[in-house]
Amino acid sequence: MNEQTTLQPVIVTGASRGIGAAVARRLAAAGYPLALVARSAEALQALAAELGPDVRPYPCDIADWDAVQQVVTGVVEDFGAVGGLVNNAGMTRDGLFVRMSPEQWRAPLEVNLNGTFHFTRAVAPLMMRARQGSIVNISSVIGLTGNAGQANYAASKAGIIALTKSVAKELGGRGVNCNAIAPGFITTEMTADLPEKVRDGMLGQIPLKRFGTGEDVAGVVEFLLSPAASYITGQTLVVDGGMIL
Ligand code: NAP
Repeated sequence: MNEQTTLQPVIVTGASRGIGAAVARRLAAAGYPLALVARSAEALQALAAELGPDVRPYPCDIADWDAVQQVVTGVVEDFGAVGGLVNNAGMTRDGLFVRMSPEQWRAPLEVNLNGTFHFTRAVAPLMMRARQGSIVNISSVIGLTGNAGQANYAASKAGIIALTKSVAKELGGRGVNCNAIAPGFITTEMTADLPEKVRDGMLGQIPLKRFGTGEDVAGVVEFLLSPAASYITGQTLVVDGGMIL
């Protein structure tokens, strides 16, 4: 996609709300045809209707390998190509490590890490054949620093960074870029339940003195998909207002 003047279709996962919806709005405004993925069909249909005829909903659980393969087949049938992939869908299942059950450990790995694998694995052959493509994986600063109460989520997000570097190395020779973004504290439903005291404590650690927005992340996604980023691959861009400096 980086080398093309015609904008190629982009798959955005986790597009039903939060960062993914902001990414979808930003890319649609830039003129990208979009395939929106999440489990909530209604929310996807509403966003697709808002963003116009080149934006289509593909409801799917990204933890389900077969479902993801069907979505990618459908996207190729509908749009004819896949030029970009934004692996954004994700979830948390927080808890202290010493009390963490195997099921609790696996939940974010199955969605965040395996889901990213499922979509990347499905689009990689198409992009390699086309000798172009850009994959943007949404990790987290927690994948870089770790966090008490989030061992499972941290492992999933660190795994995404290692996956990003490996895919960049394997696919670079075929003209495919793969990068990650590590957002800090972004105001969405995922962060809505944090107690006031925790939020205030985090704000004190952010040099830019504000929490991030979905648009803050969406702008960096658009950059990484664009020709301006064509010589960047395997990197993790931290978008956190300076929080982990
Ligand atoms: P959010 O508001 O909770 O949205 C999560 C999105 O992922 C929703 O669209 C959800 O849609 C989708 N999703 C969850 N599980 C899914 C599954 N099994 N299959 C398909 N879609 C699924 O979260 P957010 O804050 O926008 O986070 C987006 C990404 O940024 C996540 O990867 C998150 O880890 C990362 N991140 C967020 C922050 C932050 O501060 N908010 C910081 C760092 C990184 P459905 O429920 O409809 O399936």
